[in-house]
Amino acid sequence: MCIFCEIIKGNIPCYKVYEDEFCIAFLDISQTSIGHTLVLPKEHYKNIFELPENISEHLGKIVCKLSKHIKEKLNISSINILNNNGEIAGQTVEHFHIHLIPRYSDSDIKIEFNSNNLSKEEFNELCEKIKY
Ligand code: 5GP
Ligand code: ZN
Repeated sequence: MCIFCEIIKGNIPCYKVYEDEFCIAFLDISQTSIGHTLVLPKEHYKNIFELPENISEHLGKIVCKLSKHIKEKLNISSINILNNNGEIAGQTVEHFHIHLIPRYSDSDIKIEFNSNNLSKEEFNELCEKIKY
């Protein structure tokens, strides 16, 4: 059972903020910050690795539109757009979704990135490996 599919089918209630043919957006139950919204495809795709590019394109457009809308309505100037794919990355619901997290102060949420000090050679090797 996928909780987000159940929400999409209307079997579990949600606070819906947007819907079209391909995607839906509703308030995250945990409201990490006020206005925390999830945007997801109506079709069940586990994560980014399964997501078709046409759906990804559409979601990108809606995330952009909704972010601007939320900025205006909640009178914010900052927002984090987050997407977890896979258990190690912190994904807990296995139905692809993008988090829109409005920010009100720089200390309300901690999003931290570690840094690795790579040598020039290591950077070059890595770059060659993943170059597309
Ligand atoms: P993830 O950790 O997979 O990136 O994010 C899953 C998110 O789904 C969490 O932020 C969690 O609060 C939210 N969530 C889990 N169950 C429900 C639910 O039943 N309704 C809503 N609206 N959000 C949910
Ligand atoms: Zn699902």
